[in-house]
Amino acid sequence: MAEITAEQVLEALKQVKDPDKEENIVELGMISGLQLKDGHVAFGIEVDPERGPMLEPLRKEAEKTVHDLLGVLTVTAVLTAEREAAPEQTALPGPPPGGPGGPPGSQQSAAFQKMDLLGIDSVVAVASGKGGVGKSTTAVNLALAMAADGKRLGLLDADIYGPSIPRMLGITNQPEQTASGMIAPLENHGIKCMSIGFLIEEGTAMIWRGPMATGALEQLITDVAWGELDCLVIDLPPGTGDIHLTLAQRVPLSGAIIVSTPQDIALADARKGLNMFEKVDVPVFGLIENMSYFSCPHCGERTDIFSHGGARKEAEKLGMDFLGEIPLDIVIRETSDGGQPIVVSDPDSEHSKSYLEIAENIWAKI
Ligand code: ADP
Repeated sequence: MAEITAEQVLEALKQVKDPDKEENIVELGMISGLQLKDGHVAFGIEVDPERGPMLEPLRKEAEKTVHDLLGVLTVTAVLTAEREAAPEQTALPGPPPGGPGGPPGSQQSAAFQKMDLLGIDSVVAVASGKGGVGKSTTAVNLALAMAADGKRLGLLDADIYGPSIPRMLGITNQPEQTASGMIAPLENHGIKCMSIGFLIEEGTAMIWRGPMATGALEQLITDVAWGELDCLVIDLPPGTGDIHLTLAQRVPLSGAIIVSTPQDIALADARKGLNMFEKVDVPVFGLIENMSYFSCPHCGERTDIFSHGGARKEAEKLGMDFLGEIPLDIVIRETSDGGQPIVVSDPDSEHSKSYLEIAENIWAKI
């Protein structure tokens, strides 16, 4: 089947009129960030913040119009209020006064209201102050460890800068739409998975501005047919920006886990993560020290490359729980990068036991 093109999508969207104006949403310049990937289409519809809540039917109509095109598998349209939004509205300084929802019925309250997650019992975010510390590797192994005794787990790859979860779970196929118009999650090793990487071309996420990225991520939670889950684990993008704050405010997180390597510099970033979650009243379940020490595959000797133990000390200092340490070991890299994470490929290994212990600890906190 011929690949759908951006021109075809825009042509179709010309049928969709802004209900308050006479022109169509393409002519009005409302379409932004159009992304196409293997039949998956994502775009933003820029609207005035005050009109946002009233324009849900427009968003749905735009999605349906594009979905009806031949060769389109899934469509994610998000309303973004960025263009007219004042800087302080996108900066999300913290929950508004008057409780978590803010004054009822206000525009503020729509932005801060927690989403309703039917069928999902708990949500845990895995965060890191910076990239490359092994956040995704930890998220995958932890989700698998949490599922080890028959619990129903979902793993959402929200790392817009480097979505890697499907590869780590050995998933190569693409998501399809269900009969009811939802996106069907993919499954492997007994857990369900959805990734922002299915919807966007690698390397292009950077051009997405904050509100568009958060809108798309919210839809990956609400428009995916997750079914009944005991827990949804979210692999957040690295850092502590607006995307994290918005998600922390919109998604009813049971708690967050921060992954860090033991060096001071990484720990300083982990501290920022802790502050951010505290600011939005999300409990931090604790800190995991990844790449804690190096175990040599040849002689078995242990080397503390990044001055092992830094995370434990830091956790103590900050009054945070220390959840456990995972060594820097080539087996962990090879298994997760190869789609067979160690928790499923060698469940009796020392490292798997560490993940399983951390998982038990997390269940206790949930
Ligand atoms: P992040 O999500 O923080 O950017 P990743 O989980 O993608 O980091 O990990 C970056 C790289 O480091 C990957 O190739 C991964 O396999 C490897 N890695 C992560 N944790 C470990 C570990 N404990 N031992 C060995 N390699 C690891």
